[in-house]
Amino acid sequence: MLTLDTPLTKVVGDRTAKAMADELELQTVRDLVRHYPSRYARRGEMTKLTDLQVGDRVTVLGQVRKVDTRPMKNRRGSITEITVGDGDSSMRLVFFNHKHARLAVGAWGLFAGTVSSWHGQLQFNHPDCQLLDESTDAQEWATAMLPIYPASKSVSSWVLQKSLKLVLDSPAAADQLMAEDPVPAPVRARHGLMSLATAIWLKHHPETPEDVERADHRLKWDEALVLQVTLAARRRAAALEPGIARPRRAGGLADSVDALLPFELTDGQREVGDALEAEIGREQPMHRLLQGEVGSGKTVVALRAMAQVVDAGGQAALLAPTEVLAAQHARGIAGLLGPLGRSGELDGDPDGTRVTLLTGSLRTAARRAALAEVADGRAGIVAGTHALLSEGVEFADLGLVVVDEQHRFGVEQRDRLRAKGQRPPHVLVMTATPIPRTVAMTVYGDLETLTLRQLPAGRGGVSSSVVPVREKPAWLDRAWQRVREEVAEGRQAYVVCPRIGDDEKADERPEDADGAPEGGADGGSERRPPLAVLDVAEQLRGGPLAGLRVEVLHGRLTPEEKDARMRAFAQREVDVLVATTVIEVGVDVPNATVMVVMDADRFGVSQLHQLRGRVARGRHPGLCLLVSEAPVSSSTGVRLAQVAATTDGFELARLDLETRREGDVLGAAQSGRRSGVKLLSLLHDEELIAAARSEAADLLESDLGLAEHPELAAAVAALNAGDRADWLERA
Ligand code: ADP
Ligand code: MG
Repeated sequence: MLTLDTPLTKVVGDRTAKAMADELELQTVRDLVRHYPSRYARRGEMTKLTDLQVGDRVTVLGQVRKVDTRPMKNRRGSITEITVGDGDSSMRLVFFNHKHARLAVGAWGLFAGTVSSWHGQLQFNHPDCQLLDESTDAQEWATAMLPIYPASKSVSSWVLQKSLKLVLDSPAAADQLMAEDPVPAPVRARHGLMSLATAIWLKHHPETPEDVERADHRLKWDEALVLQVTLAARRRAAALEPGIARPRRAGGLADSVDALLPFELTDGQREVGDALEAEIGREQPMHRLLQGEVGSGKTVVALRAMAQVVDAGGQAALLAPTEVLAAQHARGIAGLLGPLGRSGELDGDPDGTRVTLLTGSLRTAARRAALAEVADGRAGIVAGTHALLSEGVEFADLGLVVVDEQHRFGVEQRDRLRAKGQRPPHVLVMTATPIPRTVAMTVYGDLETLTLRQLPAGRGGVSSSVVPVREKPAWLDRAWQRVREEVAEGRQAYVVCPRIGDDEKADERPEDADGAPEGGADGGSERRPPLAVLDVAEQLRGGPLAGLRVEVLHGRLTPEEKDARMRAFAQREVDVLVATTVIEVGVDVPNATVMVVMDADRFGVSQLHQLRGRVARGRHPGLCLLVSEAPVSSSTGVRLAQVAATTDGFELARLDLETRREGDVLGAAQSGRRSGVKLLSLLHDEELIAAARSEAADLLESDLGLAEHPELAAAVAALNAGDRADWLERA
């Protein structure tokens, strides 16, 4: 008997099954029924052919009106022209040396091809054709919605349709196949959801757009619930393992930090700090996401929490995404602590601790020394990169893990670091920018959120403008003029480029930047390569910025060089730093007030916001200029204008989401594995996700191991297969 787990080799021919597995990752009946149509062909669509561009790949539904085969004029062989139409519209199908006996006048069919044009009329050359059942009354096609499936080289949409027919030939067959519903009946009843069988049947055989909508709604629930159960279980499992309470101690490092801070904490920093203080003081391990606007002062919040843990005898690890940032953190913290951060050294305070930097590029001796400090507990605060995760790193007593600018780390990496505690440490994850609620509930769904909305008082703020160089070339000269003016005032500037330059082929985004739309939005492959740091720096030195101290910074420099240049910039020995996105994250030089982003359209929305965050850090107002060749009215131009128009991180996060693919964003929720999400939209389904989250929590509340919901448990297990999430048993 057919079940959802039946391999497709038992359903279709071996060759087809293999192609489905290789090209579409479809292995079982379950995969096949969840391979949803990407759209539905309908009558009347041909009228839209006028909107089509030559080169578009489309599928149209039409009736054969005329068939004409004749020998070719200048070559041997024949040409067959078939006119297909629908209502008043028609188009031509052209076949060379190929007669389509079945394409007779009156037949209805689906025709898939790439649009070309010949003497002003649209045509398909050698389209794929699928004749519709000849026995059916043509009238029926007037309302039919024919599913068009995401296809591959050797598995066409029609092959998929036929294969689906083998497993789902009637609503009754669907009922039998999907008698067990992963969404429990009470949940369905509460939210007015149809059964899985009905939804899957309708998704593949809808009669109206409303059918599709209703089916989608139910199928999205599936996705959301499975994801939320996974996350809720992870939260519970983590909460159940006892950690170590690290209550704040008066008169220790934490008090010293507070006394040493050169500014007043904002109310927000204080509130968040209180919440963290309380939770770290409990045995149940903390799992918090701190999201805050760029420049809202997350680092200080983290430092205060770290000091509390040190006072309680534990160690704190601060994980940063780049070496530049890790080094900056170590330096900043050590600088603030002074002698208190050099315990054990001659001028150190014996009541203090040590701030240790651990990155992949440390030389052997330095690395050995750092590892020893970490292992014997002398290092109370350890700042580092991925290197912290590696096998050889052992902590004496890891009490707190802080992950800074987290969007580059997945759940798995978080877990690797957590596992370095004797007992589970407290965890604080800090995002670089605010994130939409849906993302907080999914990608970070295993964490509870805290938010820092406020910026420290007295910030100058940044104003941004787009410099459309094609339309307003003079504005670029003005931009360099502004840089010179700021430097004359004693300020500094960044110039950011997408590429390093010189011999490299694909050195873009060397620091693993995220979010840039693939290949940019508007252009094709003929676009010129993105501007490069080395070229731009050269041109600036010899031209508009001649006489200023211009330095470059990028990912191909050694960590020592990077560090030295960053330091020189911080000490005002450099006026203008021309850099890649190495400076995107967290770099903190309050005297820098201008940023010019070259080829701004090559960066993602979040990236631009992050970059811009580098110049609003002090008392002086900042200026960010987004230089782009994109036409002002193009979609890219509009996106840049939107970025320039607001500094509200939440709004920008939403905008960012619009330009990214669901799966890419959600991948992180599942340790980089597939999220199982096909229909759910982080942009549009906020309510649904919130409802599923609450249902998931309730479900686990009453049925921890999901014993009463085997279908849901199976769906969750299928999503997490291979993952080390054996959390179901643990829960
Ligand atoms: P982010 O939240 O983007 O990581 P940082 O922690 O790097 O921001 O802080 C940005 C800058 O603001 C730093 O120079 C920091 O020293 C400063 N800062 C943090 N808190 C305050 C405050 N309460 N008042 C004034 N300046 C602050
Ligand atoms: Mg930061």
